[in-house]
Amino acid sequence: MNSDTNLRDLSTTGGWVRNARVAIILIVIGSLFLRSKFDLFHYDTSTLLKVSFLYLLTSIFFALFNKKIRTTNQEKLATYFELTVDIIFITLIVYSTGGVQSRLAFLYIVPVLSGSLLSPFASIIIGLSTLVAYFGLIYAEYTNFITSVFTDTVADEYFSKIQMIRQSLIVIITTFIGAYYFNSIKKLNTQIVNIKEESTAKSKAILESIGDGIIVTDRQGIIVEINDKALHLLNLDFEDCVGKPHHAVWNVTTQKGEPTLLLDRPIEKVLTTGVRFFNTTATTDTYYERKNMGTFPVLTTVTPVILHDTTAGVVESFRDITTDKKVDEAKTEFISIASHQLKTPPTAIKLLTERLLGSKMGELNEKQKEYISDIHTSNQRMIELVNALLNVSRIELGGFSIQAKNLDSLSLLKNVILELTPLAEKKGIHIITSFEVQNLTLPLDETLFRVLVTNLITNAIRYSHESSELVISYAKNTQGETIGDKKLTQDYHIFSVTDTGLGIPDDEKDKIFTKFYRASNTKENHPDGTGLGLYIVKSILKKSGGDLWFISKKDVGSTFYIGLPISGMKSVDTGKIISPPLE
Ligand code: ADP
Repeated sequence: MNSDTNLRDLSTTGGWVRNARVAIILIVIGSLFLRSKFDLFHYDTSTLLKVSFLYLLTSIFFALFNKKIRTTNQEKLATYFELTVDIIFITLIVYSTGGVQSRLAFLYIVPVLSGSLLSPFASIIIGLSTLVAYFGLIYAEYTNFITSVFTDTVADEYFSKIQMIRQSLIVIITTFIGAYYFNSIKKLNTQIVNIKEESTAKSKAILESIGDGIIVTDRQGIIVEINDKALHLLNLDFEDCVGKPHHAVWNVTTQKGEPTLLLDRPIEKVLTTGVRFFNTTATTDTYYERKNMGTFPVLTTVTPVILHDTTAGVVESFRDITTDKKVDEAKTEFISIASHQLKTPPTAIKLLTERLLGSKMGELNEKQKEYISDIHTSNQRMIELVNALLNVSRIELGGFSIQAKNLDSLSLLKNVILELTPLAEKKGIHIITSFEVQNLTLPLDETLFRVLVTNLITNAIRYSHESSELVISYAKNTQGETIGDKKLTQDYHIFSVTDTGLGIPDDEKDKIFTKFYRASNTKENHPDGTGLGLYIVKSILKKSGGDLWFISKKDVGSTFYIGLPISGMKSVDTGKIISPPLE
């Protein structure tokens, strides 16, 4: 046990000693009151008053003196001293309230209990001192060394040996039973302190053994724990962080160096929504400031600490992904160059197969038609893949343009549904629409809007069982409403697709928007997916101020939601455009 714990333990003992003294003084005053009211006791009132007054002064002195105590040893010595003084005063109180006949002799139990809180040794020393004081008093009266308060009533029986033994036994038994129980309580207290210390040490070891930076805050966002790795990443000292609100400790910016609004900081987001936050290497635009050393991109996961259904704080784990980002960018650049080259041959194949399938080049026999048609379908898949790769590289390399115009999004959506109906019909899937609004005109980039809705509808068709139903909805929802487990933080136009298909396993939901990720239950039976569609949708929505989320249950079905801001998409011109779907 370290000295801090000793001090804490002792200060509890010290606290008990002080409280007990107040109790003794109150008992004495109470008995004085009873005496004046009922004349129950024979007191030497003037001596008792003097003694009480002195005791009060001594107590005040101790209270002031204790403030100066700094070390464990000083506290221990002071407690011994205080207990000795208590015994002396109690002896004086007992003497002035009748000596051997005093009903206040039970007060001796107080210092003995206090002693037992200090240590077993102290318990014995204080117990013995009490006995010596009490019997010293009785003996002094017996031998007429001091005058008994009850000179007139002192009966021999009080001094008989039997009486002495009985008194001693009562004092010894009560004090030792008390000491036993108090020691048990103290042991329990020590055990609790030990368990607490052990768990603190364990948590500290866990925090330090993690390779990522870890920051723990309370519900107000005040940092309560931070590990060395986090201090190293932020170039800060422990004292700079603990006890301070997270936003006062380090700055968060975008890649361009623009400060992130408080509500958009990962920790603050989780504190206000209670929902876990994480980003991915490719999509992150979160940069943390390293004190006096610029900023670095972070990969972060912020998890709420939920206590009795409320967010009691958060735990953030984050790492510097400068290197990962560079590698990722190099990969994207390679994909971009390669896809440009890859796009030319399939485009030629597409043209030629379409010409062959048309009757202009002469009639083909059935077998030839079948083979050319297969080539055309496979080639189409290749074009889709190359387009998806190109779109990803456009998203990741400097962004893509948003050319927003005032458009009727509902008619656009109806067009897309019409285009995709044959695909659904091939599987016998019936599309049901539910549009709660008549006309949703808002600034939109037509191609991007088509990419968004086409992706969700084709996914729903691809991952649905034959002859099932899809429900496509479009509605206007307001801030505060909960749609698909998400509490809306702004007004949205919400487009959603519900299917009764394969669903997504719970443990894979976190990764579903990650580039190239395909859920385990879909990979085998649907090998033709790219794992890029949702990533592209999420990225487009992120840039245009919207959001993508879903609810899903494996083997039951899924609903994917797209939330578009009421104000529509904001135009951005980067010179790079996203390829339209089904090109
Ligand atoms: P792709 O569909 O080309 O594989 P996406 O990025 O569109 O790529 O989707 C990623 C993964 O998410 C899919 O592979 C599939 O595992 C899962 N997924 C998407 N939509 C659904 C859905 N409606 N039902 C079940 N799983 C889905």
